[in-house]
Amino acid sequence: MTQIPASQRTANPLRRTKIVATLGPASDKPGVLDKLISAGVDVVRLNFSHGTADDHRRRLQQVREIADRQGRTVAALGDLQGPKIRIARFRENQVILREGESFVLDMALDTNDGDEKRVGCDYKALVEDVTAGDVLLLDDGRVVLNVEQVTSRHVLTTVAVGGRLSNNKGINKQGGGLSAAALTDKDRADLKTAIDIGVDYLAVSFPRSAADMQEARELLGERGKHIGLVAKVERAEAVAEDEILDEIILASEAVMVARGDLGVEIGDAALIGVQKRMIKRARQLNRAVITATQMLETMITAPLPTRAEVFDVANAVLDGTDAVMLSAETAAGDYPVEAVEAMHRLCLGAERERSAQESGHRMHQGFTRIDETISLSAMYAANHLEGVTAIACMTQTGYTPLIASRIRSGLPIVGLAHDPIAQRRMALYRGVISVLFVPGEKEGDRELNQRALDTLKARDIVKQGDHVILIRGDLMQSHGGTNTLKILEVM
Ligand code: PGA
Ligand code: MN
Repeated sequence: MTQIPASQRTANPLRRTKIVATLGPASDKPGVLDKLISAGVDVVRLNFSHGTADDHRRRLQQVREIADRQGRTVAALGDLQGPKIRIARFRENQVILREGESFVLDMALDTNDGDEKRVGCDYKALVEDVTAGDVLLLDDGRVVLNVEQVTSRHVLTTVAVGGRLSNNKGINKQGGGLSAAALTDKDRADLKTAIDIGVDYLAVSFPRSAADMQEARELLGERGKHIGLVAKVERAEAVAEDEILDEIILASEAVMVARGDLGVEIGDAALIGVQKRMIKRARQLNRAVITATQMLETMITAPLPTRAEVFDVANAVLDGTDAVMLSAETAAGDYPVEAVEAMHRLCLGAERERSAQESGHRMHQGFTRIDETISLSAMYAANHLEGVTAIACMTQTGYTPLIASRIRSGLPIVGLAHDPIAQRRMALYRGVISVLFVPGEKEGDRELNQRALDTLKARDIVKQGDHVILIRGDLMQSHGGTNTLKILEVM
């Protein structure tokens, strides 16, 4: 572990961990989106499981306007619904299932005709994917069914854990193994919408392997080539073997620890280990990682989090996550702004811990790329040299700030992006401040460096007398060209 001089461990007021907030009816209320963004949202999630293309388009337009007005960088993450398998509907909208009674998932039953005895299902292949002895978890595991027998159109079960079951609740199989492909027809259509409305990231739900991510990448094509793919890790298969998880991480720009569905599939007790492993592995493989679901769940109806939620957020920060995510808390809750404020406060608190600022990242590993070597060296130098208060990276794509931010540090990494696409992409990276900084065509090296320092100073990131480590390429317009590290004094 690197010991960092005490003077470097200043509690800076900048929050490093990024906040992803899901938009929905709660954030549509007058003035709320403005407040969410000023409270610190870095990435908005447009959830294609709910709402129309027009809802998403309108919300993203508003986000862009507000972010411009407030001088903030806010990225947009489109989240595809994926093959979430659901029951159909009940005549009375809901039923109460009792332990020990039998209940049938009936593929031929009319969509609205469910009752205490049976309900329809939109995923007809369910009868091929389950066998007697399997355990089905409905409504995120609140209702549990033991499969007794399967026919060509029925899944006959006994209720193991009963309770209220309402329309369209999700079905998961314990241990995973439902074979539905990751990208449904709806997802393919939504992916086109996502490109049209201009998202920065696109999340693929329930990928089974890297191949599902590659398929999404092909569908994005030329028009969507600037969009970063996020793999939502929420199937048992995806975490069953280290190799499969590694391949999924490498096939994506970021991964999400999608604890809702994942917890149902692998069991809640296994979640903490998987979260820690995923965050560590994503960072080692130079990818960003989002920790999601139920982080401040009780704030859907209460203005303050529980102690358990406080610890959950803090632990994700200490694990090294790039971002923490809010779902219903901001999309449909009663306290969306308070939830973002709580996230902000809790992340800042956890980041003050020494372990959040010290790093042994790639300490005993050789480097193969010049740009990575410069990036990592900059962090090493910044963490050790007294008087350095920021790292600045001139970047075409956001890659060198990403690499730099894989190392833990208490110092801000300022990504000076040549265009708004890279600027927004960096909004997800822990510890990175996104700034638009377009190099002039005839601007000389010295002028450019000076303007970079002036930019940092104007934003109050550094002050006169501070030292800044600046990294950049000799040729500014080429990706992967970072080959220079300078230590500059702010005049
Ligand atoms: P969802 O994904 O909110 O789209 O279900 C996240 C999760 O499953 O945790
Ligand atoms: Mn999910």
